[in-house]
Order: sequence, then C-alpha cells, then structure tokens
Amino acid sequence: MKVLVINSGSSSLKYQLIDMETEGVIAKGNCERIGIDGSKLTHKAKGMEVVVEKPMPDHNVAVALVLEALTNAETGVISSMDEIDAVGHRAVASGETFKKPTLVSDEVMEKMTELCDLAPLHNPAAIVGVKACLAAMPKTPMALVFDTSFHFTMPEYAYMYAIRYEDYEKYKIRRYGFHGTSHKFVSQEAVKYLGKKPEELKIVTCHLGNGSSITAVDGGKSVDTSMGLTPLAGVPMGTRSGDIDPAAAEYLAKKENMDISQAMTYLNKKCGMAGVSGISSDFRDLTAAADKGNHRAQLALDMFAYSCKKYVGAYAAAMNGVDCIVFTAGVGENTPCVREAICENMEYIGLSIDKEKNQEKNNGSIRDITGKDSKVKVLIIPTNEELVIARETVELL
Ligand code: ADP
Repeated sequence: MKVLVINSGSSSLKYQLIDMETEGVIAKGNCERIGIDGSKLTHKAKGMEVVVEKPMPDHNVAVALVLEALTNAETGVISSMDEIDAVGHRAVASGETFKKPTLVSDEVMEKMTELCDLAPLHNPAAIVGVKACLAAMPKTPMALVFDTSFHFTMPEYAYMYAIRYEDYEKYKIRRYGFHGTSHKFVSQEAVKYLGKKPEELKIVTCHLGNGSSITAVDGGKSVDTSMGLTPLAGVPMGTRSGDIDPAAAEYLAKKENMDISQAMTYLNKKCGMAGVSGISSDFRDLTAAADKGNHRAQLALDMFAYSCKKYVGAYAAAMNGVDCIVFTAGVGENTPCVREAICENMEYIGLSIDKEKNQEKNNGSIRDITGKDSKVKVLIIPTNEELVIARETVELL
C-alpha cells in the first residue's frame, strides 16, 4: 500500500510517498512559492534530486506537477496515479469538531471551512491542498490528520481557560495544543527504545523548532501541552512571543496605534527569538552571534531555555515525576547548547546529561544523552510527522 502525505502551507506544499509495508519513503519533495513569482518544485527519489522551475499560480498546478514528477519516466516511482492508495493531509486546527483523524467528505470540508475562523493561517491552506488533490484524484480516499488529535486526552482542568464557562461552551475557546503527530511519534519511539510499556512512563516531549511546544505524556497520553487555542502560546519561538500578559499586548497596541489583528500579527511574526535578538529567528544564526559575544542573541537563547525548563518542571509536577525527556525537531535535534541549558540545574528531579554525548552531531537516529547517575532518561529522537500521518490514514481506511 502506498500513501501520499501532503502538508500544505499558504504558499508551499510538502509531500512524501510512503510504502506502508516497509514504512520507507519512496519519494519526497517540496513546492515553494506557490502563487508567487519564482515557484519551484524540488523532488527527491531514486537517489536523485531534481528541481523543476515552473510557474505555480495555485495549489492545483502544484499538485499536478507533483503527480507528474511521481509518474514520469525519469524521476517517477509509480507508473500511474492509481498506485496511490490514499492521501493523508496534515491539518492544523480541529476545534472540538474533529477529535480524531477523519476521512474527507463534502460535509467534512464544509466543517473545515467553518473552522477557518479559528486558524486563519493554517486551515485555508489544508482545504486548498485537499481540493487540489481531489481534483487530480477524485476516486482516491483522503484523510485529514490533525495536529490537535493527540491532545484530546488532556483532562478538563488542563485544557480549560479560566474564562466564563458560557463562552467556552459558545465558542469552544480552550487549549487544543499542536504538533500532536510529533509528540505522539517521539513519545512512542521513546517507549520502544526504553523497552517499556506506555503506561509505565511519564515523558516530557520537547518539540523545539521554528515553532516549539512541550507536552506531558503520562501513560502514553497527552495530559498537558504548552500551545493553546492557537500556536502562539507556550515557550517563545522563532518569531512568536509565546506566553505573555495579554494586557501587555493591549498596552503596546494603544501606544503604537495597532488594532487587535495588527497586535496579533506583531505577536506572531515580530517577536520571539527574532524580536529579542534583532538578528534572526534561526537558532543557527543566534548561536553563531552569541558565540561572538552578541548580548541580545545570548539573551534570546537564555530566555528560550529558561522557558522550556519551566515547562519541564511544571509537567514533572503535573505528572508527579518524570522518567524521560525527549528532544526533537530542528532545534531539539541539532542545537546542543539549548539542550544543555534546559537540562542544567535539574538535580532536584535527578536529571543530568552526558555533556560530551550531547555535543555529538545529529546522525538521524535516536541518541541517548542521559548522564551517568541520572534517574531521568534524556533522549534525542528525530521526529517523523509524515509517517504518523500515513499510519493514521491507513488506520482510518
Ligand atoms: P519548523 O518545522 O517549525 O519550521 P524546524 O523543526 O525545521 O522548524 O526547525 C527549524 C530550526 O531548527 C531553525 O531555527 C534552525 O536554526 C534550527 N536548526 C539548527 N540546526 C539545524 C540543522 N542542522 N538542520 C535544520 N535545522 C536546524
């Protein structure tokens, strides 16, 4: 069985064709700058990488180019689209409407459209991606796999905000959390690696990338997570502020003459590591600048690590202990100084890391950086959101 996984952004479309018998990637690639000048498709298959520079005015054209790359004589890996048994689409926001991965139907797509209010940046892109795939493959089953699903096991007291209960009921304003497929994948990998049963472990998973979130996984279930109604909450991120006193946003908006949506754009795009450092949202740039003595770059890194550390401590308290901490995603897998700063001074929960092992380069496999006498395991586990989406799609079928 072959599953095509699609991750649509507003101007991008990433894809992977996965053979579910082996769970191996047959081909993968990325369409960039859809609807903008200079669109290009990068396609990797059979040990080759090809770049196709063609105008992609919309996602329909992008999907057509992906299917052409997958089937053509030179770069192709399948003889026709009929060999694609199903398509799994990454979807970000589900509201309380979709608590599980869901097969696409007209009714489902209508509900997705209603949810655009909740995720104006993300849901329209997923809808466009689904529609473009349906246009090209009308008979192929399609699934929506939500970033939020893994977190529906949170207890009520963890997902509720202390707002008027009537407003929660009316508008479903609550914590949903994101990166669920990643937290689920790495926590399951940790369980396997440690040779335990899910119910035996309390794990804190740190998905640290351009967007970052931290999750408490108790007995295989998400019981709390740092992102909220939207991905703006939690630790500071590449360009997002993370947690902030809402009154600070109001104060700044008044001073700078911003309306509420401008203030939200400011908090999403101008803050975080980029805003504090004034240099970059990218941790590679930040660590390079900090190494040269740049104070604001170092400050941004210190704030990030401090915030992550507080979430780890909070989740250890919430779960009455922690057996394992997992680092994943771009920063979690590749930035030793961030991991070291987060794990420093954690003797109170019996945690230490092996500083030398922590410095070793990412080799794409699981790395155990647990310190010699540490009671808490510390693992670096490469995430694989696409594989989770493909697995959930197969399960639905
Ligand atoms: P997202 O999926 O949220 O866009 P990623 O998980 O790809 O983000 O993480 C991007 C971040 O990871 C960037 O800040 C980047 O600096 C950092 N990073 C550090 N080293 C690497 C590396 N070798 N490869 C990719 N990202 C890296």
